[in-house]
Amino acid sequence: MESASSRLADVNANIARACKPARRAPAEVTLIAVSKTHDAPAIRPLIDAGQRVFGENRVQEAGAKWPALREAHPDIVLHLIGQLQSNKADEAVALFDAIHSLDRPSLLTALARAMDKAGRQVPCFVQVNIGDEPQKGGCPLANLPAFLAEVRATAIPLAGLMCIPPAGTEAAPFFALLAKLAADHGVTGLSMGMSGDYETAVILGASHVRVGTALFGAR
Ligand SMILES: *Cc1c(COP(=O)(O)O)cnc(C)c1O
Repeated sequence: MESASSRLADVNANIARACKPARRAPAEVTLIAVSKTHDAPAIRPLIDAGQRVFGENRVQEAGAKWPALREAHPDIVLHLIGQLQSNKADEAVALFDAIHSLDRPSLLTALARAMDKAGRQVPCFVQVNIGDEPQKGGCPLANLPAFLAEVRATAIPLAGLMCIPPAGTEAAPFFALLAKLAADHGVTGLSMGMSGDYETAVILGASHVRVGTALFGAR
């Protein structure tokens, strides 16, 4: 099996290659290494290879793994990319440096309160239900303008928009739509692209790509 450092080098090279036709600089793209379900021995080689930005989708799992890993590397940056329940807002604010799943007013209220209490403002991406899928998380497209206004009325730094395109479809049109929505609403960050489509996301303007399988192997 390929080593973690060579997989990391491959992903970074692919990001740099995708930047070229888009006339973007690779430094404009942050690679979030999605380490969910992987344990510390699987994560350490990537840290040793220089990766510092990681993503987790569960507060509890991240809380169990990361404090120890971070002790040796205080410069590690941790992103929450999964759905967040309002009752875990305090824990999430204490643990994460960015949150990608802000998608509803009740969570906005809980996060604003948790951040005030902690004296720590954590940048948040507003997750958009880009395919208008009934069961999926994310702010419905129709509610996005009003919800962005609500977010902007708080002290929470708005980091950008985030999406997970519908499974089994071509992702590019959804990435392009997210980029259009961000431009229309004056938002700069774009969290989009996973192992199967991160190069496409980079070409279409992603500021953050969330890559798990291509770095860690299958879960
Ligand atoms: C798991 C996950 C990823 C990474 O997916 P891979 O296909 O393994 O790269 C990205 N984003 C979110 C929201 C995820 O839950």
